Amino acid sequence: MTGFDTLPNAPLQHLALSWLRPFGVELAVLRLDLIDPLISGNKWFKLLEHLRLARQVQAPGIISLGGAHSNHLHALAAAGKRFGFATAGLLRGHFQDTATVRDLQAFGMHLHWLGYAGYRARHQPDFWQPWQVQYPGWHCVPEGGGGPLGVKGCALIVEQARAQLASLGWADYDAWWLAAGTGTTLAGLVLAEGGAHQVHGALAVPLDHGVPAQLRALAGDSGYRLYEASRGGFAKVDEALLAFINACEAESGVPLEPLYTGKALLALREQVEAGAFAPGTRLIFLHSGGLQGRRGFA
Ligand SMILES: *Cc1c(COP(=O)(O)O)cnc(C)c1O
Repeated sequence: MTGFDTLPNAPLQHLALSWLRPFGVELAVLRLDLIDPLISGNKWFKLLEHLRLARQVQAPGIISLGGAHSNHLHALAAAGKRFGFATAGLLRGHFQDTATVRDLQAFGMHLHWLGYAGYRARHQPDFWQPWQVQYPGWHCVPEGGGGPLGVKGCALIVEQARAQLASLGWADYDAWWLAAGTGTTLAGLVLAEGGAHQVHGALAVPLDHGVPAQLRALAGDSGYRLYEASRGGFAKVDEALLAFINACEAESGVPLEPLYTGKALLALREQVEAGAFAPGTRLIFLHSGGLQGRRGFA
């Protein structure tokens, strides 16, 4: 397994949206959705240190878990095919014939459907044991590429943005705005910033799903702020959200999906309209990718 250490550069672009204009807030978007057609978004950054560790210990393959539309499994399977390592995916629920699952199969990932109860057991200490018997020596990546190794790779995101500020005509920026699922990417930005710039996380899952505690463990309790942005639950989609996404896409040409980036941008509009940011504030919106998962909503 070689060739995964050099991540492509995500372009940093102005994002001019009419709902920002009256408030004088300037927005740029870091387009992680453009780094690669298959290994898209924040997932490559989160996988980077896992792949390095797997190479170092000469693991025969990598095993991880997710749902039938999982952006994480999709990126892992594509990386396995591209960079030459075997992959196995443990899936939530029972067999579903989704566009994502078809890709996973085409990329050569071994798939195992755990049912719902089986998937809920993923946080138990003995969860991995039978899989380690079936796949001896394979490296196990926690759900969503989380944990300290996932956090570490996300520091690169901050580096990529800072290296491009001059191209926007910006001397500096005030804060980040991004979607949070497990909060791993957010924790990576918080640690890389070390307090230099605030990090705002729009939660794609309800606040009571354990993300705040997980974040505290990974990144402490300062340097960031969380907003409930799930709109009734993870993967819940409503008309107002879809209309907002369509309007933003038409105006900016930047594609969004409803579960993470669309909800995060809508939560930003709510905060801007509530006066949370002074005129002249410069924000970087992290486009965390996820567009392959959008096929599930076609
Ligand atoms: C996975 C994913 C996230 C969540 O990232 P975390 O590091 O788990 O918070 C956000 N946006 C998109 C598009 C994703 O696919």
